[in-house]
Amino acid sequence: MNTTNRHVFKHCPHCRADMALRLEGGIQRPLCPDCGFVQYLNPAPGAGVIVLRERKVCLVKRKFPPRQGQWSFPTGFMEWDEDVQLTARREALEETGLEVRLTGLFAVESGILPPDIPVLVVFYRAEETGGELQAGDDAEEVGFFALDDLPGPVAFAAHRRVLAMLAREWGP
Ligand SMILES: [Zn+2]
Repeated sequence: MNTTNRHVFKHCPHCRADMALRLEGGIQRPLCPDCGFVQYLNPAPGAGVIVLRERKVCLVKRKFPPRQGQWSFPTGFMEWDEDVQLTARREALEETGLEVRLTGLFAVESGILPPDIPVLVVFYRAEETGGELQAGDDAEEVGFFALDDLPGPVAFAAHRRVLAMLAREWGP
């Protein structure tokens, strides 16, 4: 793994010593030579939600960078004390106003969120149980769109792959 572009600590967050690099199982890891702290550069887990109305998918327009103004499934990072299903339901409610029930796992996708945040996104199928469609939180707009009539560019490769999987599943 190349760590040069990653958010590597220059100083140990515990004891402030200058960090060094250590080869561990073929991977260079940032290490504090004084207290032994190792900075593991793990992907950040998040959840995405696939809500459908007929054959239209719920997408939100992103209000903030990265990829501001582009579209994605309602998605967000897990909070420390959440399980991933709760993250999915919370993000759906915050961004779309819809209360949802998760109906199954759809896909697990990984990627690099600009500028350099490695992520793992768990996509669930969900159905509406309540609420009212309204853009909120970090969504500027929300709507349901046919796969062949998307409202604009889709922000992330993982989300484009999920759209392609849906298209294959539904057929022509
Ligand atoms: Zn240290």
